[in-house]
Amino acid sequence: MILVTGGAGYIGSHAVLALLETGHEVLVLDNLCNSSRLSLDRVALLTGRQPRFIEGDVRDGALLDELFQRWPITAVMHFAGLKAVGESVREPLRYYETNVAGSITLCQAMARAGIFRLVFSSSATVYGESVSMPIREDCPTGIPTNPYGQSKLMAENVLKALADSDPRWSIALLRYFNPIGAHESGLIGEDPNGTPNNLLPYMLQVAVRRQPQLSIYGGDYATHDGTGVRDYIHVMDLAQGHICALERLGRSAGVSVWNLGTGQGYSVLEMVRAFEQITGRALPYRIVARRPGDIAQCWADPSKARVELQWNAERDLHAMLADAWRWQLSNPQGYQHEQAPQAVMVG
Ligand code: NAD
Ligand code: UDP
Repeated sequence: MILVTGGAGYIGSHAVLALLETGHEVLVLDNLCNSSRLSLDRVALLTGRQPRFIEGDVRDGALLDELFQRWPITAVMHFAGLKAVGESVREPLRYYETNVAGSITLCQAMARAGIFRLVFSSSATVYGESVSMPIREDCPTGIPTNPYGQSKLMAENVLKALADSDPRWSIALLRYFNPIGAHESGLIGEDPNGTPNNLLPYMLQVAVRRQPQLSIYGGDYATHDGTGVRDYIHVMDLAQGHICALERLGRSAGVSVWNLGTGQGYSVLEMVRAFEQITGRALPYRIVARRPGDIAQCWADPSKARVELQWNAERDLHAMLADAWRWQLSNPQGYQHEQAPQAVMVG
């Protein structure tokens, strides 16, 4: 059985689905601070199997001890964490406490229970402003410009030191690039609280007129069209990367770092044009000042994961946008939507 912390959230729920589909038993621990239980009901609908769910906090060591005693858990996927950059600037202690101290509490409980296999959600943000593109795993980590990024880098360093101290640990640090999209059914997807910060969730809300227009942060970057370039990856490809990493953990000790990206960068303007084409809706935008802390460009060299995990991102930008749009149309209010969602055809 795999313990999935944060398994009701955006990426976690897609990983739970992928785990169930590959035959794993799953126990989800989530305090629902940024998610809904309904995501797991939808996963059950899709897989025909209901993941076990415990509402609780990853910082609660006694609860973790109880779970590890009660269930035959052999490995942990650790998604639970806070991820809003702006909020992390305003509430740094909450971010360090959840993302760093929460990871430490989890590892302490795992060690007490004799469980040493961990897949950790890290981020390309740990590279900071990398000088060379594409980014390989051996590029030095940078200085993240906000407490969220710092907390991910700190957690990585804690996990590296832990694995160095005890050869029983086998830990995967998965550095995600920009996860977008949704399961192709449109039944599970990203359900941001309040006004979205990330590009695609914001574009989706503009397209359904919940926001008047998109602000493009900066048109004067040293990129081919002046707007920021990122490596967007389909959340189902990302979920599959976790399955591959989990399988690999059974075979090697120590810490391994893998980039999960496609290796292909798209600018904000390219995203807008592709989105308009797929949805058939005009996306009003204006170019405004750069967002503080943003970097010009960032894309992965995913070859290490390809070679070592036999993993490859298979879905293209069209699939990412079409699947996100299907999720948005079927669930205009996210999981708060009362009615069962209708199937929606997207071109
Ligand atoms: P999300 O907010 O949808 O999921 C996180 C889940 O963790 C939520 O369900 C939330 O309720 C839960 N949670 C938060 N604090 C908790 C706690 N103390 N105890 C138990 N549960 C708790 O976010 P996501 O996009 O699915 O991200 C998952 C992980 O991936 C996070 O660690 C995030 O930092 C990391 N990550 C995300 C992105 C991205 O762009 N989405 C990029 C890189 C890394
Ligand atoms: N972006 C934008 N307008 C928005 C949100 C994002 O122009 O409302 C840009 C942002 O400057 C970056 C890209 O879109 O170049 C991706 O931003 P996002 O916040 O989704 O991810 P990040 O790479 O910053 O983590």
